[in-house]
Amino acid sequence: ILDIKNLKKSFGHNEVLKDIHMTVASGEVISIIGSSGSGKSTLLRSINLLETPTSGEILYKGENVLEKGYDLNKYRTHLGMVFQSFNLFNNLNVIDNVIVAQTTVLKRDRDEAKKIALDNLTAVGMERFASAKPAQLSGGQKQRVAIARALSMNPDVLLFDEPTSALDPEMVGEVLKTMKELAGSGLTMVIVTHEMAFAREVSDRVIFMDKGVVAESGTPEEIFVTPKEERTKEFLTRFL
Ligand code: ATP
Ligand code: MG
Repeated sequence: ILDIKNLKKSFGHNEVLKDIHMTVASGEVISIIGSSGSGKSTLLRSINLLETPTSGEILYKGENVLEKGYDLNKYRTHLGMVFQSFNLFNNLNVIDNVIVAQTTVLKRDRDEAKKIALDNLTAVGMERFASAKPAQLSGGQKQRVAIARALSMNPDVLLFDEPTSALDPEMVGEVLKTMKELAGSGLTMVIVTHEMAFAREVSDRVIFMDKGVVAESGTPEEIFVTPKEERTKEFLTRFL
């Protein structure tokens, strides 16, 4: 569904993504791991065009979205993103947080949007909090609302940037459980994470990034049990 070729991104003289090749097949769950500063967030942000790549191609269903004239707003609606910091609207209650982009961006009528919102809040176990304000929720609950919001846009691909790293340890499990259920439902997911056990368990493929390149990619077994690259081994030993 996505085919990324020769992707490069520089900030000034700092080349953060050097020459990324990556494919995402429909229904695939891919985890991206790597040290701080290796370019994981920049890669996700380049995929959904929160950052403009310096060069390269992003093929979405075979078409290069970086080509002049491609409808970028349309492309963006096909990708969902879940951030470390939730990014909920604090002045809106939970269900309105999940409704608002559906009515404004997708032009759904409010009743339909509300029904979809409730279905997705139920899927993440947050329907009881529909009329709560974000300030009344724990971090784990906020993140589950953020996931319901992203799901309600029916994304073809859902990107996660360290969705559990801002959470207190006791909240991490509930969010990982929700994500594991989504992974089992056939949703296409690309997940930047430091949760190695989770990555190993749910991913079809794991990508290890180092200094702006894909240093190694393979099945969870290949990356976590029989890594080939010295730098992969070295990175993993820091987590064991
Ligand atoms: P972490 O695990 O800490 O989240 P990361 O792998 O996500 O790290 P990035 O956030 O992609 O790493 O950052 C990679 C490099 O790009 C860093 O050196 C960072 O300083 C630089 N960088 C990221 N965003 C910008 C920006 N908007 N302007 C300038 N430099 C940036
Ligand atoms: Mg990051």
